[in-house]
Amino acid sequence: MSHADFIAGLPKAEIHVHHVGSASPRIVSELAARHPGTVPSDLAALREFYTFRDFAHFIEVYLAVVDLIKTPDDVQLLTYEVARDMAAQNIRYAELTLTPHTSVLAGVPIEAFVEAVEDARTAAERDLGIRLRWIYDVPGEFGVPAAEATATYALDHAPDSLIGFGLGGPEIGVERPQFKEVFDRVRAAGLHSVPHAGETTGPQTVWDALEQLGAERIGHGTSSVQDERLVAHLVEHQIPLEVCPTSNIATRAVDVLENHPIKQMYDAGVHVTVNSDDPPMFGTTLNREYEIAADLLGLDEAGVTDIAKNAVTASFLPAPEKAALAAEMDAYLADWSTRG
Ligand SMILES: [Zn+2]
Repeated sequence: MSHADFIAGLPKAEIHVHHVGSASPRIVSELAARHPGTVPSDLAALREFYTFRDFAHFIEVYLAVVDLIKTPDDVQLLTYEVARDMAAQNIRYAELTLTPHTSVLAGVPIEAFVEAVEDARTAAERDLGIRLRWIYDVPGEFGVPAAEATATYALDHAPDSLIGFGLGGPEIGVERPQFKEVFDRVRAAGLHSVPHAGETTGPQTVWDALEQLGAERIGHGTSSVQDERLVAHLVEHQIPLEVCPTSNIATRAVDVLENHPIKQMYDAGVHVTVNSDDPPMFGTTLNREYEIAADLLGLDEAGVTDIAKNAVTASFLPAPEKAALAAEMDAYLADWSTRG
């Protein structure tokens, strides 16, 4: 049995993965059949469309999928089917990043959006045994107005299972400090702060996320290793980094996997978690990201289990639920070891 088999069967948590970015060709085929037009509904043609070429092509695929999500039913289908793809990888718990602003712009009222994702969440938990929690993400390129709107959705229309508030989109030219007031407001209401930072810009963006936005985890944080003082700070305060190796190659944040700083982070004692970001659009899966991390870090099965438990520790699950999921992972490892 290979590493891949061990990873595939390991119960897992994922804490950095995007809603629309998780739409697989199978899901898009269903959406395209509902809304005939620009995107093929034929699965073979879709697989071709999805074959990752470069970052510009990723944006093209992403926007084509955004265009297919027009109604609350589409939101429900996408969410439930994304949960199905996760459950098939033995993901037991996920903090899924939603961008409600995009759906509202597409004409789905926020009330209907919330009803659709909550309906999908409870159905997925019942049918598939996967628990989902939500992070609302500000599309940074739309600036402070989008952040204000997203805060309103988070505070005045909060779904039961909203736990965090994020900031995504491009980093270059989108200074983190302008979002401080909005983050102050949502944090005061009890939401966790989980912005992207240091993916395509330097370590100062990570400092800004920590100091201005009160970040409790950092999305990517790839450039953190360029600043020794920052690495020491992340280690001292055990601030998790949500590392997404294939995504970093796809967006050219890192040139080749061999040069990915995950090993530097890990060796320094940073709380590293492994995540998939926009998996089908980057031609990957969470399981594949664990295989990559195991290779880059030289991990055996116990090491893979440990790093997978980092995602549980870094999650916002209540402590007893964290302990239960970690115990499930330990039991899987023990069972694997006796069989091996
Ligand atoms: Zn992301």
